Amino acid sequence: MGDLRSIPGVDRLLGDLQDTLLPPPVLTGVVRRCLETIREEEEVPDYEEILARVKAAISRVSRTRLQAVLNGTGIIIHTNLGRAPLGPAQRASLDTISSQYNNLEFDLNTGKRGGRAAYLEEALAEATGGEAATVVNNCAAALVLILKTFALGKEVIISRGELVQIGGGFRIPDIMESSGARLKEVGATNRTSIKDYAQAIGPDTGLLLKVHQSNFDMTGFVSAPTTNELAKLAEEHQLLFVEDLGSGALVPLEKRASIAHEPTPQEILKQGCHLVCMSGDKLMGGPQAGILSGRRNLVSAIKANPFFRALRCDKLILAALQNTVDAYLSGEADRHIPALALMALPLETLQERGTRILEGLDQAKGLSLGEGVSKIGGGAMPSAEIPSLTIEIRIPNLKPKDVGYQLRLNTPPLIGYVDNDCFKIDLRTIFPEQDAIVVQQLQGLY
Ligand SMILES: *Cc1c(COP(=O)(O)O)cnc(C)c1O
Repeated sequence: MGDLRSIPGVDRLLGDLQDTLLPPPVLTGVVRRCLETIREEEEVPDYEEILARVKAAISRVSRTRLQAVLNGTGIIIHTNLGRAPLGPAQRASLDTISSQYNNLEFDLNTGKRGGRAAYLEEALAEATGGEAATVVNNCAAALVLILKTFALGKEVIISRGELVQIGGGFRIPDIMESSGARLKEVGATNRTSIKDYAQAIGPDTGLLLKVHQSNFDMTGFVSAPTTNELAKLAEEHQLLFVEDLGSGALVPLEKRASIAHEPTPQEILKQGCHLVCMSGDKLMGGPQAGILSGRRNLVSAIKANPFFRALRCDKLILAALQNTVDAYLSGEADRHIPALALMALPLETLQERGTRILEGLDQAKGLSLGEGVSKIGGGAMPSAEIPSLTIEIRIPNLKPKDVGYQLRLNTPPLIGYVDNDCFKIDLRTIFPEQDAIVVQQLQGLY
């Protein structure tokens, strides 16, 4: 221990720090802040200790950089882990479009300025069953845009059972009110009838809104009007009826996994809803986007709103989304869209992989295969459970949460979960080509 004068200078520490990913100014900032903290302490640690603390601070900052991780949570659309991963076919044009000039807003037929996402809009309309479609940043943006366009200063009638929080502290009602529309809440949390909507309709009504309860389940004494009933009511009163599907699947998911049916935009629009919005990176399995689909005049009105410009997607998103939609339209979605493929992975395949992983370890003490349940996630189908396979880790004298910490320190970090006093890695959401990394990391635990 030394006095204040023995605190090393930034340069000396920088000289001893190699192999960091942080750019020099960021690195210097981390070192400075570390030294400031040490300066405020009563006793100054020795140089080795200071260096160790600086290195730990650098690692902490490095780990906040966006990077690839192995998802061993079994949650297929994990919002904290980047939602839907993209497959090679979805990424195919990203490199070309990003590195070269392209026809983003140029019409190759006329040689003049063209519509942004012209083809994509046609393809999205086709895939979602709308007369027309368009795309913005995300589903929350799509919802605000709808309200701004059709309900500014007016009332939006919505069931109390649908005023949900969508994660990250964001609540649908707050997002909606930020548009300048007023919410007219009807019914009770668990029950809302078509009468409740009918009674709420008045001169100030802008539109009827149904929000898909995607991230929670209500069971027991519950009821809500169907899309059909709401469509009829809207028609009687010449009102606009919109559904926020949130997760929005484009294909019947129950045919892919043992899960319940998730409403598709095609069905909802067929049942008389005028306009729907949904996320691109939830069950659709594409990049982050908010897709709007429905009546042609409504989509046109939305595109004519100046605020539409503030929410437009970047060319990379449009490129990946175009490939994604093409995969659906060519009937190749299950092959090309990882979110769908992961859902459908048979348990036997996971069992074979799990057995091979354990065989690949010199010493598999404390490791075993167990049953797990994968979830769809992404605020989608909370009760849907897909039987899965886990690697269970029980190491004497190492708490499950400490196993989790050690695995998170790896490059790439491996994320699993603690259940039943055991650390578990669900193999469904780990890609087969990552199995060798899992073996290596498990080996490293001993
Ligand atoms: C997830 C979700 C949203 C928000 O979608 P983003 O694409 O993340 O903006 C909105 N509404 C519902 C019902 C959702 O499930």
